[in-house]
Amino acid sequence: MFVRHLNHETRNPPPSFNPPPAASRAGEINRSPERGRYANEWRQAVPPPRGLLQRLRHILRRTSLSFLGGLQPVPEKNFLRLLYCHYVFDDQVKAFEQILQVLKGIGDFVNTDTCVDMLEGNREIKGRFFHLSFDDGFRNIVTNAVPVLRKYGIPAILFVPTSWAGADWQGAKRFCLEKTGYSGVVEMARWEELKRLTGSGMEVGSHTKNHLHWADLSQDPDLLWEEVAGSKHLLEKQLGRECKYLAWPFGAPVDGNPLFWESVHKAGYRACFGACRGSVQPQQTCKYAIPRHHFEPQWPLSHIRFFASGHMEGGQQGLTSLPGDLEEETTPTPSTAP
Ligand SMILES: [Zn+2]
Repeated sequence: MFVRHLNHETRNPPPSFNPPPAASRAGEINRSPERGRYANEWRQAVPPPRGLLQRLRHILRRTSLSFLGGLQPVPEKNFLRLLYCHYVFDDQVKAFEQILQVLKGIGDFVNTDTCVDMLEGNREIKGRFFHLSFDDGFRNIVTNAVPVLRKYGIPAILFVPTSWAGADWQGAKRFCLEKTGYSGVVEMARWEELKRLTGSGMEVGSHTKNHLHWADLSQDPDLLWEEVAGSKHLLEKQLGRECKYLAWPFGAPVDGNPLFWESVHKAGYRACFGACRGSVQPQQTCKYAIPRHHFEPQWPLSHIRFFASGHMEGGQQGLTSLPGDLEEETTPTPSTAP
């Protein structure tokens, strides 16, 4: 389950690109006459492992993580560790709160500006720090996760694929079943909710426009630019504030080709988040490929504690330098697509 279904960011999606449905564009919400039932429990949207091999991998992984997660973690004095998940369904609110309680017992949460300040070496990492983000722009983050985050004063950022924000049921169905491999249709966050959300610790960043695979964009610079800069432009227009951060879909290291980094840099993003496990090393980790530890609320607490304690980071320290010409800071260009 973990590898095949919960780590969908690192799977290879179908390479096809289809324009989003008209009704899913900004400001047009739930107007489709054909509407089914949204998944409100995690088992309705996260498929179980299929086939013997997947089930075996799931059992092996679960067993080994349960054993390792029970071991006493090595105490670290100072660290900055990034965590991300995708959803908090109605039946996961309590589990999500427990996760936050455990993490708060280990360290403090910082917002994205502070996180990147630390990464750049402009602010010392003196203590144990976590940064939290959510990918894919589901509405259950707004309705279920945000109230808990506010209760504990924890800042977080939602990375939203802009073409799917405010999607109607048909649009959400396409995003969930065709683009990302969920087994149920999860309601997408609405623009007015995202606008209300920003500020007081909550931020909204770009998850590109259409949640495409970068490898499939490498031969099409115009489409890549539209995904990177166009999503930034739309978020800024809709939310009325600067969009400084992007998390790229299916963010494995192989996806970070120079063309992509160049587009992110030119579009004016301050930093970009990946989806590979790894630790943040100040002034070393590439700010356009920031590693994050994946988890989901249905995971056993011991497994989440295992990753939050810095395990599974060996050999994946994030990229140690910016690629080529991007080493030199330049003034960001306007975020509008050419
Ligand atoms: Zn995603």
